[in-house]
Amino acid sequence: MDKYLKALKQNVCSICVDSGEKGSCTLNEKESCAVELFLPRIIEVIHNTDSDNMQEIHQKLKDTVCVECRAQENGNCYLREDANCSLDRYFWSIIETIQKVDAGLII
Ligand code: SF4
Ligand code: SF4
Repeated sequence: MDKYLKALKQNVCSICVDSGEKGSCTLNEKESCAVELFLPRIIEVIHNTDSDNMQEIHQKLKDTVCVECRAQENGNCYLREDANCSLDRYFWSIIETIQKVDAGLII
């Protein structure tokens, strides 16, 4: 798990609008990052999806992770609608980073 977290910090937090100048997260204690919160589920979905199609994996992430998230109600998520969820905002980089770690391209 640590290797994924480290890679995500380098590749996703570094481009995240919620990171500070030095790449550290600026969310306060009342806010949470869906990438950190649901990381085991995210990895599981990516590992169990037999497809390279990013949109397909993105949909599976929504079907699996968003249903467990308190921010979603009746299929709608106010954070996603406001582009305020890191998982939704950076799903492409998140998937790519996890796949690169699995392929040994990021250590
Ligand atoms: S919100 Fe999540 S992805 Fe963004 S900097 Fe914080 S921990 Fe990283
Ligand atoms: S898009 Fe919404 S429901 Fe899905 S993980 Fe992000 S905050 Fe949660």
